[in-house]
Amino acid sequence: MIRYSIVPSDPKAHLFEVNLEIPNPSVNQVLSLPAWIPGSYMVRDFARNLIGLKASQSGNPVALTQLDKQRWQAQNSTTEPLKLCYQVYAFDLSVRSAHLDMTHGFFNGSSVFLAVEGQTDSPLWVEIKAPTEVALNHWRVATTLPKRGGDAWQFGAFEAENYDALIDHPVEMGDFTLASFEACGVPHHIVLTGRHRCDMDRLCQDLKAICETQIQLFGAPAPFDEYLFMTMVLDNGFGGLEHRSSTALVCSRKDLPLSMSAKVNKDYRTYLSLCSHEYFHSWNVKRIKPASFIPYALESESYTRQLWAYEGLTSYYDDLLTFKAGKVDTETYLDMLSETMTRVYRGVGRFKQSLRESSFNAWTKFYKQDENAQNAIVSYYTKGALFGLYLDLIIRKETAGKESLDSLMRLLWERFGLTGKGTDEDSHQALVAELLGRDVSDIFAYLDNTDDLPLAPLLAGFGVRMELRAASGQNDTGGGNPSALTLSLGAKYKAETLGVRIQTVAESGSAHLAGLSAGDLLIAIDGLQASANLEGVLNSYNEGDELSLHFFRRDELMTTTLRLQAAPLDTVSLHLEDAKAITAWLG
Ligand code: ZN
Repeated sequence: MIRYSIVPSDPKAHLFEVNLEIPNPSVNQVLSLPAWIPGSYMVRDFARNLIGLKASQSGNPVALTQLDKQRWQAQNSTTEPLKLCYQVYAFDLSVRSAHLDMTHGFFNGSSVFLAVEGQTDSPLWVEIKAPTEVALNHWRVATTLPKRGGDAWQFGAFEAENYDALIDHPVEMGDFTLASFEACGVPHHIVLTGRHRCDMDRLCQDLKAICETQIQLFGAPAPFDEYLFMTMVLDNGFGGLEHRSSTALVCSRKDLPLSMSAKVNKDYRTYLSLCSHEYFHSWNVKRIKPASFIPYALESESYTRQLWAYEGLTSYYDDLLTFKAGKVDTETYLDMLSETMTRVYRGVGRFKQSLRESSFNAWTKFYKQDENAQNAIVSYYTKGALFGLYLDLIIRKETAGKESLDSLMRLLWERFGLTGKGTDEDSHQALVAELLGRDVSDIFAYLDNTDDLPLAPLLAGFGVRMELRAASGQNDTGGGNPSALTLSLGAKYKAETLGVRIQTVAESGSAHLAGLSAGDLLIAIDGLQASANLEGVLNSYNEGDELSLHFFRRDELMTTTLRLQAAPLDTVSLHLEDAKAITAWLG
């Protein structure tokens, strides 16, 4: 069996050492590292962190020829066992790669384990070794890689059924907090790394409710024997990556609940929704997945037009199932949905890119957003979530509540998840046609066009009024009932000592027409210093007023005239109007 061993050999230098033994190599064995990690659709070239690769047979060095940025060919002329040894520099504190210092270690297999070409379907053995520093001898290990014996949470030998599994069970090591609970009879674990004061009982209680709601949606049994939520707690952080029986997360310290009686505030509900999102992926993308991901082609971009379904529908469900698990009330759920809608309605990019185009271009556009993103692209997460809402409401309406988006997810699970068959571009449409008993190309046209989804009339049928209003300020994320501003700059900005720094400029807004750009330092408006209260100052004028502006572009002082425009109606508030009608949607 192919054997890997990995040791945090020099945490102070952020280095893992990896050894690999191939008992039956091919002649001129080729080895490679992935260019990207499934779930995060950007080429990251993990091989850039690989250092000092050496090969040997029976103690004699074997030359290696590098074939491209991530592949090497050993010049072995015999098939006797081949050994490889290398280091990996691990200093990316994210869920996508690897990180090692004296506080903890974390890695995804895709960052550290070379694939043995021709043998990636074979079972593998992995030894995860403890650090040698005495100061770190209390470290434990958390991963859902099956253990080959020894105590749980201890260093030792693990196995993986193939290379695909090896890189789908991330590993955390350190002095972490551990808590466990059962959901529908399946053991679940929470591992928190980093300083925190989280009430673990509270977190267990809330995650248990969310997990059980999801298992019941798809139908027991859960598709895994155990599940692990691992979270790196930072001063300020947010993110997650899904795996087949675990998720790696990053959160902010303030997101975690401090007691059993703590309120589910905006920070905590964001964290719960993140956990809910990654957990939902256990079904939707880890098992129900695009045909083009079976198997994953990890050497370069792997295009699909279906991320609206895998990230969008998952985004619709992450908040919805947090609500259905009883963790937030109806009013709060409508606010959460208002915020998702607002993120879509804020950008004119939604009129330039369809959901399928957004999915296809994830690699170079969504994952490489710049200051112009809101003017150029639409998110397959947020607009995809709205498409999920649209589908859910239409299916409920046309079947008088007999079917819903849940029915579609269960059909997807039966036809694709359980069979291992991948979805193609028409799979979702065919299943919805089956549920509704009619041609549904009118519904799915919204994946290819850039029209706003007709949500307001649908929501009205379920007792919810959708209000499009002006923002109350640049920190207004939607929802609620705040007093709106009447005039807007048409740019996002951040206060600095001397003035305000323009961060993004909305197409056709006042700032755009006045010639302001991202990066400009606006120092004076109408002869007075620009400050954090910029919006308040602008709103003391009238629509159409012309104001002189002074600003620096690079180090050059410039002047221009800003003609004040009415604030755009780009912020959504959902209002519950009929408590009975909404039960046909939210129960
Ligand atoms: Zn996701």
